[in-house]
Amino acid sequence: MNSFTFYNPTQLVFGKDSIEKLPQMIAQFTQGKKIMLTYGGGSIKKSGLYDRIMTLLSDFEVTEFGGIEPNPRLSTVTKAVEVVKEKGIDFILAVGGGSVIDGTKLISAASKLDNDPWDIVTRKVTPEEGVPFGTILTISATGSEMNSGSVITNWETNEKLGWGSPLVFPKFSLLNPEILYTLPKNQTVNGIVDSMSHLLEQYFNEADNSAIGDAMIAGVMKEIMKAGEVALKEPENYEARETLMLGATVALNGFMRMGYNGDWATHNIEHAVSAVHDIAHGAGLAILFPAWMTYVSDKSPERFAKFAEDVFDVDSSLSQQEKVDAGINGIRDYWTSIGAPAHLSDFEITEDDFETFADKTLFNGPFGNFYQLDKEAVMAIYQLAK
Ligand code: NAP
Ligand code: FE
Repeated sequence: MNSFTFYNPTQLVFGKDSIEKLPQMIAQFTQGKKIMLTYGGGSIKKSGLYDRIMTLLSDFEVTEFGGIEPNPRLSTVTKAVEVVKEKGIDFILAVGGGSVIDGTKLISAASKLDNDPWDIVTRKVTPEEGVPFGTILTISATGSEMNSGSVITNWETNEKLGWGSPLVFPKFSLLNPEILYTLPKNQTVNGIVDSMSHLLEQYFNEADNSAIGDAMIAGVMKEIMKAGEVALKEPENYEARETLMLGATVALNGFMRMGYNGDWATHNIEHAVSAVHDIAHGAGLAILFPAWMTYVSDKSPERFAKFAEDVFDVDSSLSQQEKVDAGINGIRDYWTSIGAPAHLSDFEITEDDFETFADKTLFNGPFGNFYQLDKEAVMAIYQLAK
C-alpha cells in the first residue's frame, strides 16, 4: 500500500429521524440566519420534502435556488454564486442527489473568490475558503454527500470535469432511507450502477496489497446487489433502501481507498460521453464498465480472476480465463437484469463520436492508475461498448 492519511470531517446523520435534526445541525456551523436552499428540478416539491424542510427552517431567512440540473452546469452554478454574494448567504443547504451536491460544492468555493467558477474546476485557482454547506440526500448513488469531489459540465466547451478540495466536504449530511421511496426505477438503477462502479474503480487499484480494501469492497458490493434487487421489486422496503443508501455512501467516502487511489479510467471515459450527450452518469457507466473490464482483463487476468472469486464466489477449480469471464459477465448480467442499458447505441450514440470522446478523455494525456490507457485503448473500449 501507499502511505496514507485518512480524513473525513463530514458528520453523517442516518435514519428515519435524521432530517428533523436540521436546525441543530446548521446551528453548529453558523450564527447567521441567511440560508440558501439549493435543489434540482422539483422532485423535492412533489415528494413533500420541501415543505418539511421549510417548516424546519422557519427561524431562518431562506433564499431558494432550484433548477440545478442532472449533470450540473457551470452556467447554473455561476448564477447561484451571484446570489450568494449579493445576499451574503451564511450557509447553503443542498437537497438532492450528486448533481445538486456537486453544484453546491462549486457554489460554496466560488462564492469566496472573484474568479470564474470554472477556474476552480480547471485548477487555475485553488480555493482557500468556502461558504459552509450541508446536505439532505435524496438519491443513493454518488457518495458526494460524504466526499470532497464534484463533477461539473461546461456546455460552452462540452467538457465534464471533476475537481475536489478538502474545503468542500459537506459539514453534515442527513440521510433518511425513506426519502428514496419516490425514486423512479431508472434512477434507482443508475444509483446502483454508480455505487458499484465506484467500488469497481477502487478494486482495480495500483497497490501491491489491498487485502483490506478487497474484502470491504467485495462485501459492500454483494450487499448492494442483493438490496438492489429487493428495492426494485419493493420500492418501499426500508431495509433494502437503508443498505443501498449506506452502501453508496461508504463506496466513495474514502473507506475503500485507504492505501491506493483506484483506477478511475472508466469515470473519465463516461464523463466524455455525458459531456456531449447529457446521458445519466449511471447509464453511461453500465455501458462502459463491462467494456473496460473486457479490454483490461487480457492485460491483468490474475486480478480479474480474484475479483470473480471475491465478488461472485466462483468455484476455485475453474481455469483463470473462466474466472475472468465469470466476473465480467457477472457484472454485465446483473446490470442488464435490473434494467440498465448495455450499448451506446441504446442512446443513438454512434462510432462517429468516438474520436471526439477519446480526445476529451486524453486532455491530460494517458490515464488510469491500474492500467494506463492511450488513445488506441480508449477507442477500442468505445468500440466494445457500441
Ligand atoms: P442526480 O443527477 O442528482 O439526480 C437524478 C435525478 O433523480 C434527477 O432528475 C432528480 O430529480 C431525481 N431524484 C433525485 N432524488 C429523487 C427522489 N427522492 N425522488 C424522485 N426523484 C428524485 O443523480 P446522481 O446520480 O446522484 O448524480 C449524478 C451526478 O453526480 C453526475 O453529474 C455525476 O457525474 C456526478 N457524480 C459525482 C460524484 C462525486 O463523488 N461527487 C461521483 C459520481 C458521480 P430533481 O432534479 O427533480 O430532484
Ligand atoms: Fe460515479
